[in-house]
Amino acid sequence: MLAIVAKYGLTVKAIVITHAHIDHIGGAQKLKQATGAPVYMNPEDDELQEMLEAQAAWLGMAPPAPVTIDSPARDGDRLMVGATEFHVLHTPGHTPGSIGLWLPQERKLAAGDTLFRDGIGRTDLPGGDGRQILRSIRDKLLPLPEDTVVIPGHGENTTIGRRSG
Ligand SMILES: [Zn+2]
Repeated sequence: MLAIVAKYGLTVKAIVITHAHIDHIGGAQKLKQATGAPVYMNPEDDELQEMLEAQAAWLGMAPPAPVTIDSPARDGDRLMVGATEFHVLHTPGHTPGSIGLWLPQERKLAAGDTLFRDGIGRTDLPGGDGRQILRSIRDKLLPLPEDTVVIPGHGENTTIGRRSG
């Protein structure tokens, strides 16, 4: 991330964590230290971050430094960065505090691990809930405009309107 920031001469204004799984939060403290940007996360994932050592042990890796959250990111919150508005959508299920970031003007959604191209996030890890993720997708994501580009936490982009097969 820092290489991309340097390459394009960018300034990081905010670090938003979609959920507290180690592969999504593990680098946040380093990024915060390097940029001084405030960190946002939904408080319902605080408990998962407290399990970072356990998460690291599952993967057989050293635990990364935990990150201090500066601001809670709650459903309906709006974050202005430059001229771009980001809407926080709380989409529990993959984790209790999973959020998506919707950029209505740009017609984009950063979906975390809630929605993938032709798939959805796993719900078998601690805090996961299969019914809840389906409810989140139905109530929070499917109502977005069909041409919204979905940027998932893993894999290729998709759109809200895309039908598989
Ligand atoms: Zn995840």
